Amino acid sequence: MKDFRPLDETELDAVRKVCEIFRSLDLIPCTACRYCIEESSCPKGIRIPDLFAAKNAHEAFHNWNTGYYYNNIITGGEHGKASDCIKCGKCEKVCPQHLPIRQLLQDVAKTFEA
Ligand code: SF4
Ligand code: SF4
Repeated sequence: MKDFRPLDETELDAVRKVCEIFRSLDLIPCTACRYCIEESSCPKGIRIPDLFAAKNAHEAFHNWNTGYYYNNIITGGEHGKASDCIKCGKCEKVCPQHLPIRQLLQDVAKTFEA
C-alpha cells in the first residue's frame, strides 16, 4: 500500500461499465453464504446456492456445460432437484439477502428440467 493510488476516472468508468453489464444479466444475487442449507436444514436437501450458481452461469455464459453441472449437483439421490422444493419456506427465513428462494427455484427448474 506504500504507493497507493486510487482508481482514475478511466478505470472507474470501466468498473461502472462492468457493473452495468452484470446488472443487465439479471443474475440471482446469492452470495453463497450457505446459511439456507446449513441453518435451515432443507427437508429435501436441495443445494440451493449451487443450483443458483448453475443458473447464473447459464445466464451469463449460455454454456451447455451448465446442464451437466446441474445434473452432477442433483445426482446420487441425497440432494433434491429444484422442482423437489415443497415450498416450506425454511430457507427464506435465514437468507440474509432475503431472496425469494421458492420462486427462484421454480425458474431454475424451468431452465434445467424442462
Ligand atoms: S422452501 Fe424448498 S428449498 Fe426452501 S427449505 Fe423448503 S423445501 Fe427446501
Ligand atoms: S442464504 Fe441466501 S444468499 Fe446465502 S447461500 Fe442461501 S440463497 Fe444464497
